[in-house]
Amino acid sequence: MNAHDSEKVVGTLLSEGYSQVPTPEEAELVFYNTCSIRDKAEQKVFHRLDQFKKTHGNGKKFAVLGCVAQQEGEKIFDKAPHVSMVCGSASYNQLPRMLVQLEAGNRRVTGLSLDTDATFDTPLTRRDHPHRAYITIIEGCDKSCAYCVVPFTRGPERSRTSASVIAEARQLAAMGYTEIQLLGQNVNSYRDPSSAGWDFAKLLDEVGRVPGIRRVRFTTSHPRDFVKSIVDAIDANPALCNHVHLPVQSGSTRILDAMQRLYTREEYLQRIAWMKAATRPIAVTSDIIVGFPGESEADFEATLDLLDAVGYDALFSFKYSRRPNTAALALADQIPEEEKTRRLAIVQERQRSIQIARNAAYVGSVEECMVEGFNKATGQWMGRTSQHKTLNFLYAGAADLNGQYVHVRVTRSGPNSLAGECIQ
Ligand code: SAM
Ligand code: SF4
Repeated sequence: MNAHDSEKVVGTLLSEGYSQVPTPEEAELVFYNTCSIRDKAEQKVFHRLDQFKKTHGNGKKFAVLGCVAQQEGEKIFDKAPHVSMVCGSASYNQLPRMLVQLEAGNRRVTGLSLDTDATFDTPLTRRDHPHRAYITIIEGCDKSCAYCVVPFTRGPERSRTSASVIAEARQLAAMGYTEIQLLGQNVNSYRDPSSAGWDFAKLLDEVGRVPGIRRVRFTTSHPRDFVKSIVDAIDANPALCNHVHLPVQSGSTRILDAMQRLYTREEYLQRIAWMKAATRPIAVTSDIIVGFPGESEADFEATLDLLDAVGYDALFSFKYSRRPNTAALALADQIPEEEKTRRLAIVQERQRSIQIARNAAYVGSVEECMVEGFNKATGQWMGRTSQHKTLNFLYAGAADLNGQYVHVRVTRSGPNSLAGECIQ
C-alpha cells in the first residue's frame, strides 16, 4: 500500500511539472514515505533522515510522508529541522497546494488532517511495475485492533465508487497491464458509496471481467468481514487468483478477544473451511503476532496448533510492538523481549516445515506463471503462479518472456519457492 501511495505521489509531482531523478543525491526535493506499523520501522525513519542530511543534505528540501508523518506531526520539525514538510496519507490530495507553499520558502508545511471523507483518486499515478498495477479501493480503517496504529494514521474508512474503480481497471487494461491488485486495509468492508451499492465480492468479480485483465489479486482481508460470497466469486471466475491473505494474528480466542479482533478461532476456521471446500485450490497466507500482552504458553501453543490445522502457504510473523495511542499500551503483563524472540523463532521454524511439505506437493504439476524477470546469476526466469508462489524456471528459447504467461512443469521445491522447466 505504501509503495502504491508513493506511485500516486510521484504521479502528482510529475503533473505539477517536477521530474524524477534516479537517486536522492541528484534531487533538489526529497520525499521520504514512511511506515510506523512497528517501532523498528519508525526508528529507521529518523536514522535515515539524519543520514540523508549528513550525506547529501546541502541546499535540498525534505518532506516526510506517510504514517510517521501523521503520527509525529509537527514534532518532526523539531527532531529533524532540515524537514520542511510533513504530510499524512489522508492529505495527499492536498499536495499541489502544499508544494506551492514549500516552493515559496515556507519551512513548516503540514497536511495532517484526518477529518476527510475524500479518497486519493489520481489518474496521474506513475506505475513502477510494467505488468501488475495496484488500485486502491478503500482507504483508512474503522476497526480498532488493540495493537494497531493504522486507524490513527490513515483515518476512517472511505470507499471509492465502483464506477471509478472499474474505469481505472479498464484504463489499465488499455495500457497493457494484465494483472491488477486491489488494495485496502480491509478490502472486505468495501461498500460502494454510489447508488450501484456493490459489495466487495461483486466488485472483485467485475474487475475480473474487464477485458484484457487476466489476474486479479486483493489484500488485505479481515476475517470478520470475509464472507462466503468472496470464495464463491473466486471459485467461479478464473481471472480471480486463487490466493487469499487472511491475517489471523493469534490461534487463541482469549488473545483474539484481547486484541479486539472481533472473531473467535472457530469463526476463523469456518472461513478456512469455505476455502478448502472450493473446487479451485485456494492458497491461504496469514499474519501472526507473537507475545501480545498476556499471551500464555497455552495461548502460544494454540497459535502453533492453528498453523498445523490451516497449513498456510506463507506467513508473515511479528513480535508484538508497543505503539502510541493504542489500547494495548495500557495492558498489564507485557511479555519480555527474549520470550517474544523465542516464540517468533518457534513459529517461523514450524511454518518452514509446513511450507516444505506444501510446496513438495506441487512437484510434477504444471502451473501457469506470469513472468516477472530473469536472474542472470542462476540463468533462470522468475514467475509467479496464481497462488502467488514464486516459480523459478529454465527456458531454452530466446524470446523475452517478461510479462508473458507461460506453463511450467514443477520439478523441485523448497520452503519458499518452486523450480521447474518451461513447457510452453
Ligand atoms: N489490515 C490488516 C489486517 O487487519 O489484517 C493488517 C494491516 S497491518 C499493516 C499488517 C500486519 O502488521 C498486521 O496483520 C499485524 O500482523 C502486524 N502488526 C500490526 N500492528 C502491529 C504491532 N503493534 N506489533 C506487531 N505487529 C503488528
Ligand atoms: Fe490495523 Fe486491525 Fe485495521 Fe488491520 S483491521 S489496519 S490490524 S486496526
